[in-house]
Amino acid sequence: MGIEKILPCTLRLNKLMSLAGNDCLCIIDRNAVPNELKATFEEHRKFDKSFDSSISCFKVPNVDQPVVYAPVSELTDYDDVRSYQEAAKRSMEKVLKAGFHTPLLFVPKVKRFPEVELCTVLGALEQLYVPIQLREAGTLKDPRVTTLSVQIDDPRAEAIFQEALILEAGRFVARDIGVGDPERMTPIQVEKYIKPLFDKLNVNVISDTQVLQKEYPLFAAVNRAADAVERHRGRIIFLEYKPPKPARKTLMLVGKGVTYDTGGADIKAGGVMAGMSRDKCGAAAVAGFMQVVSQLQPDDIHVVAALCMVRNSVGEECYVADEVITSRAGLHVRIGNTDAEGRMCMTDALCRMKELVVEQNLPDPHLFTIATLTGHAFISAGEGQSIAIDNSVAHREDHARRLQAAGQAFGEPFEVSILRPSDFSFNAGKVIGEDLVQANNAPSVRTPRGHQVPAAFMIKASGLDKHGLDSMLPIKYTHIDIAGSAGEHPAMPTAAPLVSLVKTHLQK
Ligand SMILES: [Zn+2]
Repeated sequence: MGIEKILPCTLRLNKLMSLAGNDCLCIIDRNAVPNELKATFEEHRKFDKSFDSSISCFKVPNVDQPVVYAPVSELTDYDDVRSYQEAAKRSMEKVLKAGFHTPLLFVPKVKRFPEVELCTVLGALEQLYVPIQLREAGTLKDPRVTTLSVQIDDPRAEAIFQEALILEAGRFVARDIGVGDPERMTPIQVEKYIKPLFDKLNVNVISDTQVLQKEYPLFAAVNRAADAVERHRGRIIFLEYKPPKPARKTLMLVGKGVTYDTGGADIKAGGVMAGMSRDKCGAAAVAGFMQVVSQLQPDDIHVVAALCMVRNSVGEECYVADEVITSRAGLHVRIGNTDAEGRMCMTDALCRMKELVVEQNLPDPHLFTIATLTGHAFISAGEGQSIAIDNSVAHREDHARRLQAAGQAFGEPFEVSILRPSDFSFNAGKVIGEDLVQANNAPSVRTPRGHQVPAAFMIKASGLDKHGLDSMLPIKYTHIDIAGSAGEHPAMPTAAPLVSLVKTHLQK
């Protein structure tokens, strides 16, 4: 599908330093004010002490268009490029409220933040996104921006502009899937949404209940209650990009796509269920990443993705604690808590990825799970931060730190966590007949190392522990918990960590 259909508006690179064709001028950086506006800015500063710290909209003599000034907040040593993204968002918010349709955004260049130009454009586009259901309803009353023009004073302007288009299209796909409500973005609806987008990729959907039970038994356990309602039935959507040249490396991404998480039999009581339609943001980010892959079409990188789309429903068929289920890798897993469904729905697909590596002898493989997995990740990293956890093999290459550096540069901050022996022993079976316990029965936020423990579980239950440093075939694996960064309801889904993954793995 054409990329223009999956952008919030037309994006235009302003090349001729011309202000024509735009109905307002947006400034966010006091150091990037065009010459014809400078005198007016100085004058405003003289009588308005809040001029550089609040949003204003005013006319300038000799310039046709009104100016929207949404200044970047005062920067401390600890601020990052998100300060510019926030300012760009605030300026678009003002543009929308004021009723402009064709703004021209002056994109600053800042020595301290080398990627500020791309990040600023992405920040503006993020604010212009309209949720899929509102677009489809056709009842949007507010005026929208039809064309966003960006002025980038940089020899790389064209490249930055093109990159913004590609990344934003990926983020748009991720937001659409992430934001859809529990009925709009059911597993089958995600399949229908994705298929026309990915005509350049191989799409393979596993939806047959018996196949799921046999080949993806942990996933099938979560799906059991939802399977009783036809429109809620789960599916694992595999997407594959094969490069034109022999592959140099292989990326395999598994996304948690829980379209609604009631908690299951261990139900989320007391009002904490609201917002749980966002529990599919891991799969949404993976789908967005594949959108970028299908645009960039890397020469020699093979990419396989699995979107594990399932609803964690509650009902007479639901799985319960104490059940012992044998994982695809052959481990007997005792269920401890049905609300720990994320690791259940991803582990067998992760195991399948590992098998593909072995069967097809795939070059330089790196496996990922991406998930809004634990409240513990949110509590320990805080809002806005993802957490990356490498297995031993990925850790040897210092992968999580590289991901963190990319995230820092591109406004998607990461914390890095390390796996410890206790994370593995925590999940060990307690009695004969069980190899692993899926979870304890306290909430992750009250469990020490609550976000590391599930990563250790997935390594064990998928059999990835057989591919450690001293094995015949070491396999890199990174678990990314985006519970803090995905965009909690009522905020918009952020599509994190899409940009950092693209920067770390597709463009080096
Ligand atoms: Zn849950």
